[in-house]
Amino acid sequence: MRRGADYLASLRDGRAVFLDGERVDDVTKHPAFAESVRRIAERYDAAGEALDVTTCADPARGGRIGAMWLIPQSAEDLGRRRAVHRFWAEGSYGLMGRTPDHVASVLTAFAGWRQLFDRGGRQFGDNVVRFYERARDEDLYLAYAIVPPQIDRSTPAHKHPEPFLHPGVVKETDAGIVIRGAHSIATSVTMADWLYVSYITPLAPGDVDYAISLVVPVNAQGLRLLPRRPYATLATSVYDYPLSARFDEVDTTVVFDDVLVPWEHVFVYRNVELVTAQFHESPAHVTANFQSLVRFGVKLELLAGLAMKLVEVGRGEGDANTQATLGGEIATFCAMFDALVKAAERFPLVSEGYARPDPQYIYAGMSLQRRLIVDLYRTVRELAGGAFQNLPSSEASFLSPETRAHTERYYRSTAAGARDRVKLLKLIWDFIGTEYGGRQLQYEMFYSAAQPVVNRRMFRSYDWASAKALVDRLLSEY
Ligand SMILES: Cc1cc2nc3c(=O)[nH]c(=O)nc-3n(C[C@H](O)[C@H](O)[C@H](O)COP(=O)(O)OP(=O)(O)OC[C@H]3O[C@@H](n4cnc5c(N)ncnc54)[C@H](O)[C@@H]3O)c2cc1C
Repeated sequence: MRRGADYLASLRDGRAVFLDGERVDDVTKHPAFAESVRRIAERYDAAGEALDVTTCADPARGGRIGAMWLIPQSAEDLGRRRAVHRFWAEGSYGLMGRTPDHVASVLTAFAGWRQLFDRGGRQFGDNVVRFYERARDEDLYLAYAIVPPQIDRSTPAHKHPEPFLHPGVVKETDAGIVIRGAHSIATSVTMADWLYVSYITPLAPGDVDYAISLVVPVNAQGLRLLPRRPYATLATSVYDYPLSARFDEVDTTVVFDDVLVPWEHVFVYRNVELVTAQFHESPAHVTANFQSLVRFGVKLELLAGLAMKLVEVGRGEGDANTQATLGGEIATFCAMFDALVKAAERFPLVSEGYARPDPQYIYAGMSLQRRLIVDLYRTVRELAGGAFQNLPSSEASFLSPETRAHTERYYRSTAAGARDRVKLLKLIWDFIGTEYGGRQLQYEMFYSAAQPVVNRRMFRSYDWASAKALVDRLLSEY
């Protein structure tokens, strides 16, 4: 398995990250990125200590491979994948979505469904499998950028007033293809090794120059990474902002300034039909979002624990009304979500040797998740009242002789001392209320797509034929 130190060393590769207009020398040292990068490095080290979870037998060659690279052939294999997704999610308490196992899931599904890429020419299927094998053997960390900026969604890319606002092929050479344009968000790319680039948003028939699916190393010549404001640099201390300071997977706009992509890294070339088909005809979308839902389940557990502790720190186990709120508006959703993930795993659709997590449970989870999270945040806010605004400005209030006594006296509750209570409340506020908390909410709502888009995926996945057959049988009885 990859070691944390090796991972950190690999990030010092000259990648072009620009923050506040200035180039970042070393993401492993810069305060905007260092803590989150360290979390990933620690997780790689922990993965090496938990080989029974993070690796599994390689069905093709014998020996062992990282479990996130296992091409699932059965429910049992999906169970192995769930365990490794959970392992990675626990490293960030479910707060980081684009850990290495997310895009690894996309690539694994592509390799398990190479027949789709072969339709563009067998060399493209070969490219997919060869790169998958390399990523598996070197345990590479990939991020992805598959949604263009919201510059003009009303016209297809090839009809924009300026070409290559969205990433596309400006030139083809013997060495490869040259890409120009920008994609809107590649979460975690600043701490990844490679970037997968394509489109999940629909392409129009004339968009051939944009119909690409490929990988580039994050330090590729001409690839520029433009992060949003990182939250670690807004955090005044870990005590006051324990999540902002440590678990920010920085969302980053990626600009391709004529990036040369060698042919062997191209999976789809100028083929609109295949770009459109690759996520849904192959098992990539459901396999990757199986990871998303496992990760979300860990976050829900964190949320349930925070809500329960919020109540306990105020008034023990709470009164009957509070218990009803905890049970009906938090625990119910957590248990229901857990069941959906397990059902997706237990009842895969197996075809051509690949076990896809049952799409109807994946999309039911995704459709619910982006609504549930809003309700869950509201419930926690309801439980808290003004608690988050009735907090000392920082940990210094406990240290200053001017304020220590008042802080200890007036910020406690009957159930907890001031230090414990304030620490917990600051954690919960960072989870739901700070800029970091706001981004967490937006992530759950939009890491995949807008609600109508997710709902239509659910529409396509549900077994309407069985439902209608039931109606037909009933109608035929009289
Ligand atoms: C925190 C965060 C992290 C992300 N990380 C990544 C990443 O790592 N890689 C990546 O590629 N992308 C990432 N994304 C981008 C994500 O894929 C897109 O945000 C998502 O696909 C939605 O696209 P959009 O932002 O352009 O919004 P839009 O699709 O434009 O949605 C905006 C609004 O338009 C309306 N709308 C859109 N489409 C339809 C429709 N078909 N029918 C009706 N109404 C519609 C909806 O009302 C919606 O609320 C991330 C997004 C967020 C917020």
